Amino acid sequence: GPTLRLLLGDQLDPLHPWFGERRADVVYVLMEVRQETDYVRHHAQKVLAIFAAMRALAQQLRANGHRVRYVTIDDPSSRQTLTGNLDALTRHYRAAAVEYQHPDEWRLDALLREWGADAPVPVRAVDSAHFLAPRDGVTRALAGHRQWVMEHFYRRMRRQHRVLMDGDAPAGGQWNFDADNRQPWRGEPPEPPDPRPCHDQQALWRTIEAAGVATIGDPQADTLRWPLTRAEALAQLDAFVAHALPHFGPYQDALSHTHTRLFHSQLSFALNVKLLHPREVIARAEAAWRSGDAPLASVEGFVRQILGWREYVRGVYWAHMPGYTARNALGHQRPLPRWYWDGQTRMACLRAAIGQTLAGAYAHHIQRLMVTGNFALLLGCDPAEVHRWYLGVYIDAFEWVEAPNTLGMSQWADGGLMATKPYVSSASYLQRMGDHCRACPYDPRQRVGERACPFNALYWDFLARQRERLAANPRMAMMLRQLDRMEPETLAATRQHAEALRQRADAL
Ligand code: FAD
Repeated sequence: GPTLRLLLGDQLDPLHPWFGERRADVVYVLMEVRQETDYVRHHAQKVLAIFAAMRALAQQLRANGHRVRYVTIDDPSSRQTLTGNLDALTRHYRAAAVEYQHPDEWRLDALLREWGADAPVPVRAVDSAHFLAPRDGVTRALAGHRQWVMEHFYRRMRRQHRVLMDGDAPAGGQWNFDADNRQPWRGEPPEPPDPRPCHDQQALWRTIEAAGVATIGDPQADTLRWPLTRAEALAQLDAFVAHALPHFGPYQDALSHTHTRLFHSQLSFALNVKLLHPREVIARAEAAWRSGDAPLASVEGFVRQILGWREYVRGVYWAHMPGYTARNALGHQRPLPRWYWDGQTRMACLRAAIGQTLAGAYAHHIQRLMVTGNFALLLGCDPAEVHRWYLGVYIDAFEWVEAPNTLGMSQWADGGLMATKPYVSSASYLQRMGDHCRACPYDPRQRVGERACPFNALYWDFLARQRERLAANPRMAMMLRQLDRMEPETLAATRQHAEALRQRADAL
């Protein structure tokens, strides 16, 4: 019998070595299963885009002469689990062997490993040929350090992969151009047009709904804006490099009430489902600098996200799973406010970030970190629930990248392994980096009272609450000095207001 080769929904790389030769004795297996639609409640566009991209790859493989078995979500013979279907298909084809690519999620890695150990045929795992560092690359680079500082790992990666290097020195003589970046955006330069494709996926959406899959957010099935093939992803990459990359650096931390993408690439979906290889995205960005089409500060800032952060969070994930998703170093227990699920809050920045998320399954990094993440942390929300929210609502949310960002970087639930300090701020940061406050009924300059921006009291209360734990951290010294300068009565009133805000968090 043939060899069955399993392709997961985020393993859609048409350039994988598997496809290098056409083999009559190989059947590629793709499955839309309830196990994967239901492990968390996903955004409608995420389910839709993944299934649509899987279908597109299957079609492409068939057109290239490969054998494909595609199990649709409404296939009556489906057992609705990966291993249930693998059992059935192994028997059906009298398969001689089963192969799969190393999954990026611990959950699926464990599942397939255990299944393989008892399977009636030999089961082999191969590399997904996607990442630049191995699973244990970060562990090896940073073993022995108490804090896993991304910058150390990133510089090693720059040297090792010879990215933005002039000989042994970093291009431009500097590893980091953050000082040139981090500017607010005042409407200029204009946001480039949205380069993403537009798909009518209404038929597939009806199938998903009829199957009873529960989702969040707007499916936008008649105008689905995510790339579903490698060709579409490459076109989006081209447009990004030409029109947005030159301005990426200065505005990567900016917030806008009216413009949702600014100069971000929105390539995370294409990268995470492997339509694009990180190496080619990095190479395109570097080439734009070398040809004089984009400044080094922007190119370095962008490369850092992919060669640095993306590979780094994956290493953190594999070093600390299982268990990482249950961490709760600050003992936070509160539920997320209800309006995380419908956007119905008066706070303009949160309303915009959540509203945009539900409408488009996307928010850029600073919205995730300094708006929704910051607020959940200040309020004291249960990091496991925060984790499930982020794992569901974003088009690019896969646990290996989402969990370290949410639990480590954003919620400080790992006690500072990843983030050198908790990412918390009062309203002043949000006011400096964006224009939401002008459209908000809350006042960013007030600390207490009906009209005071809730970020303020919650911020000071957070610092007061966590004072002991944060005192040893030199990066917190300035914030804590400000706290210590506050009059005791002022602090008491601020903390009292924070408690009142917590009590009516659902109504903010
Ligand atoms: P750009 O700003 O254009 O950046 C380019 C690419 O760099 C991204 O496509 C992405 O692949 C990579 N990248 C940038 N920042 C990070 C980062 N911190 N970690 C890993 N890769 C990064 N990213 C995900 O891909 N999936 C997630 O589920 C996810 N969850 C997040 C949750 C929280 C709480 C936070 C704070 C961040 C999360 N991120 C996640 C990281 C980051 O916000 C997104 O990768 C980014 O916003 C995607 O938009 P973009 O493609 O326009 O990115």
